Amino acid sequence: MIPYGKQDISEDDVRAVVEALTSDFLTQGPAIKKLEDTFADYCGVKYAVAVSSCTAALHLSCMALGLKDGGRLWTTPNTFVATANAGLYCGADVDFVDIDPATYLMCANKLEAKLQQAKKNDKLPNIVAPVHFAGHSCNMKKIHELSKQYGFKIIEDAAHCIGASYKDKKIGSCQYSDIACFSLHPVKIITSAEGGIVTTNDEEVYQSLMMNRTHGITKDTELIELKNAPPWYFEQQTLGYHYRITDIQCALGLSQMKRLDEFVEKRRELVNRYFEKLSNFPITLPPQSTESSWHLFVIQIAPQKTNPLKTDVFNKLREKGIGVNVHYIPVHTHPYYKKLGFENGMYPNAEKYYEHAITLPLFPLLTNDEQDYICDTLRDVLNHV
Ligand SMILES: *Cc1c(COP(=O)(O)O)cnc(C)c1O
Repeated sequence: MIPYGKQDISEDDVRAVVEALTSDFLTQGPAIKKLEDTFADYCGVKYAVAVSSCTAALHLSCMALGLKDGGRLWTTPNTFVATANAGLYCGADVDFVDIDPATYLMCANKLEAKLQQAKKNDKLPNIVAPVHFAGHSCNMKKIHELSKQYGFKIIEDAAHCIGASYKDKKIGSCQYSDIACFSLHPVKIITSAEGGIVTTNDEEVYQSLMMNRTHGITKDTELIELKNAPPWYFEQQTLGYHYRITDIQCALGLSQMKRLDEFVEKRRELVNRYFEKLSNFPITLPPQSTESSWHLFVIQIAPQKTNPLKTDVFNKLREKGIGVNVHYIPVHTHPYYKKLGFENGMYPNAEKYYEHAITLPLFPLLTNDEQDYICDTLRDVLNHV
């Protein structure tokens, strides 16, 4: 089966991991800080904090921005559940802003309309979390302007877009946001096996992230409240979590960083080939972008017809050894979210998109032959459904 996504591990990566594994530190060693510094440099941002996953990154970010019981977080229904769950972990209410059907991203105009309404009802969000779906940036300039006007904070769910840019700056620079959260899961752009990274320019946010990734504990002499603290002393100041990443994982992440631009370049080449080969197929191709990191390549099957056709195409491609996938089941349609009061029909653009969307395989090690096979098979299948 050709998977929809897959890591690319080199001998250098293996060597880096073995080195960490045989060093003095398996967990809290030098690779963590090195990865953080390298990543911050790459993004052009003041601080980067590495944690155990992007889900942990999102949760810690919500905490750092003061989200709590009775607070509100808005995101898009076209995302992995983790974005919305992060708000729920803090006891906040979660709500969604529908996507723009042309980009599959949170629609900034719909956001504006929802904010106007929320202002009247005195229910403005504390945090808006746009998701850079497939590696394409949301309209951050507009969302940032709205944040100033309506007084909310911004967490970018940047799980898909290590290496992507927005208006010539790397995503993660936080030029138009408070925080950006990245994933180092193997299907994403680079990997540390499991792992996540948070970037921010805000020192207070940084301190909060550092403390809450390790139980709310600090050893920083400048932060400790006790006067004349003894040398062994540390303090728990907040109720944090164990969201630490290991040195072994960071050694892998750091080694992968060296090939990051190469990975993104390869993804862009493969995407150009997809656009060429699929141009006259009876499908909707994804929006073009030269700044995207292209985590996913999503096509829409027979956008004018209904769902069974997509299921058919999906099954037939799987039968032929093509590991297609679907991103995303709209978050509000999951049973857990339905119990919170959400219903089908609430975000029609995300639901309609989901009815037709299929993710084709895309990863740096995908060969041209495999890609040709995928396109030829898709043509056959489309001719016979
Ligand atoms: C993968 C992903 C996450 C979660 O990442 P983990 O590192 O697996 O916790 C969050 N949001 C989006 C959009 C993702 O694709």
